[in-house]
Amino acid sequence: MRKTVQGLFTPPEPHWVGNGFPVRSLFSYARHGAAVSPFLLLDHAGPADFAPGTERRGVGAHPHRGFETVTIVYAGEVSHRDSSGAGGTIGPGDVQWMTAAGGVLHDEFHSEAFTRSGGRLEMVQLWVNLPARHKRDAPHYQALTRADIPEVALPGQAGTLRVIAGEYAGQAGAARTYTPINLWDLRLRGGGAVDLTLPEGHTLLLLVRQGRVRVRVEGEEAHAGQLLQLSRSGTALALAAQTDAELLLLGGAPIDEPIAGHGPFVMNTRAELVQASEDFMAGRFGQMPPPGAPAP
Ligand code: MN
Repeated sequence: MRKTVQGLFTPPEPHWVGNGFPVRSLFSYARHGAAVSPFLLLDHAGPADFAPGTERRGVGAHPHRGFETVTIVYAGEVSHRDSSGAGGTIGPGDVQWMTAAGGVLHDEFHSEAFTRSGGRLEMVQLWVNLPARHKRDAPHYQALTRADIPEVALPGQAGTLRVIAGEYAGQAGAARTYTPINLWDLRLRGGGAVDLTLPEGHTLLLLVRQGRVRVRVEGEEAHAGQLLQLSRSGTALALAAQTDAELLLLGGAPIDEPIAGHGPFVMNTRAELVQASEDFMAGRFGQMPPPGAPAP
């Protein structure tokens, strides 16, 4: 059975995250709730051009608890450091899958080299919820380089599909996830068409980063910056690219648990949010590495 189009989200005006990331928030649990579960938030940063500079661009130390942040860089370079002493720099094609879980402090900046050179920045940050039983697990990272992420050629020379997480055509994705998730990075050739099969009952969202794409049969069309929401029922999705197009497909089994969120904390109850704030104020999220220390 074919999936149907449930909605088309048009990007709002961008807002700045720190002084480094002009982002459009395509969805958030606060606005869309259970409909986007297991996902919580999607920010699309850029594409935006930065002049060469010397001042650090980004967002300073802040906490997270109760979920994962997944950062996918398409252009430019981002460095992060966290209270566990971990960190790194990711560039085009790389993904940082950070499981904040029980809690981290981290910062996120343009890399020093990218600040100096300037140029185009484009990235996506996705927040993925954790089931209640894992919200207080120890934090950890998966640093997935471009080379770690399998790329599969689509039939009929329609384009390529990178399996960041989940599985496509027998190819397992690079990331380990707590709940079933498919996160696929697609490039379609103009005029190319592809038939995808996805698990019944999963949430399915499709961000068109570049170009124009039509969902065949229903005929709904989305262009760069827009996000399509597909029905959970049905397993078949047929896409046709009107132009060369780049897409991010987000699929996942909904987590059927209450959400209580405030800023950087997403838990299940209000009491857990109060606890998160108290723990943060009391310094129980650890300490950042000293200022000026290089990213590991
Ligand atoms: Mn963050």
